[in-house]
Amino acid sequence: MAEAAMAEAAMAARVPPDEDGDECLPQYRHLLSPDLLAGQVAFITGGGSGIGFRIAEIFMRHGCRTVIASRNLQRVSEASKKLMAATGQQCLPLSIDVRQPQTIAAAVDEALKEFQRIDILINGAAGNFLCPASALSFNAFKTVIDIDTMGTFNTSKVLFEKYFRDHGGVIVNITATLSYRGQALQVHAGAAKAAIDAMTRHLAVEWGPNNIRVNSLAPGPITGTEGFRRLGGKSAEKSNLFSVIPLQRAGNKTEIAHSTLYLASPLSSYVTGTTLVVDGGSWLTSPNSFSALLDVWAAGTNQPH
Ligand code: NAP
Repeated sequence: MAEAAMAEAAMAARVPPDEDGDECLPQYRHLLSPDLLAGQVAFITGGGSGIGFRIAEIFMRHGCRTVIASRNLQRVSEASKKLMAATGQQCLPLSIDVRQPQTIAAAVDEALKEFQRIDILINGAAGNFLCPASALSFNAFKTVIDIDTMGTFNTSKVLFEKYFRDHGGVIVNITATLSYRGQALQVHAGAAKAAIDAMTRHLAVEWGPNNIRVNSLAPGPITGTEGFRRLGGKSAEKSNLFSVIPLQRAGNKTEIAHSTLYLASPLSSYVTGTTLVVDGGSWLTSPNSFSALLDVWAAGTNQPH
């Protein structure tokens, strides 16, 4: 085999495969013990789509049962059927709006009734779109803070009160690198996620004595996701912008799920109050181009639904 082809094959072997849409992986090669999360239960907000869906799948492939919760019950119900068929583990789909604590409380009660325990909380629910601050309505800014920041606090507090305070637990907040360099057209999401990273440290300090670990995971551009589609991922791909990322490519959902698995599992038993950036080094080197992002925004492919 020529040297370049060999290097390419080696590279392909190191990047775990992914599926573009909200489908399970047709096959999966365990890099870690399939029993890593055996007997555990994870409550995953936003688990019916994108990154949250793949996190649910990878956790289930490591012995975990899951609760996947978001507003659209049909979406989480269909997702749970696919997840159970692919992994043979139980998955309970529930409808919640993370802006409404009483819906979270009802879902957590139902999950505890079903499984008698919850070990892991993944705060993945979020809303995002590109918009210059000058065009962003007061309400649009507030909505993103409400879903991302308030939603993360609401869900964490409900889980704390109903289970983690007495039994311990692990929380992983899915955040972003947007605020690190003041990403253009992202003041709403950047501010919301930066507040969550702060919350991670505060809660790690306050809840550590209760044997609760709290960490953030900040993904870079991740293919096959709503975020990628709305935030200019496709146009960045077309313009070859990912070649400036140190690892020369966008990431995939399986890679985010693997890093989340590390943070949620006993592999990271002494890790709390930190943010794990999983972006191939992207935030260090990617252009923060106001005009290129304005073009994507003007083309209107990133509207909120
Ligand atoms: P996604 O598929 O749109 O995931 C967002 C999820 O949040 C959806 O399942 C949605 O389900 C749920 N959700 C939204 N509002 C909610 C609410 N009020 N209450 C409960 N659930 C709600 O997007 P994704 O791109 O995979 O993103 C997943 C996470 O990764 C997000 O936290 C995002 O900020 C973060 N992230 C993504 C990227 C990327 O490149 N994709 C990069 C950095 C960070 P319903 O509509 O059914 O409620």
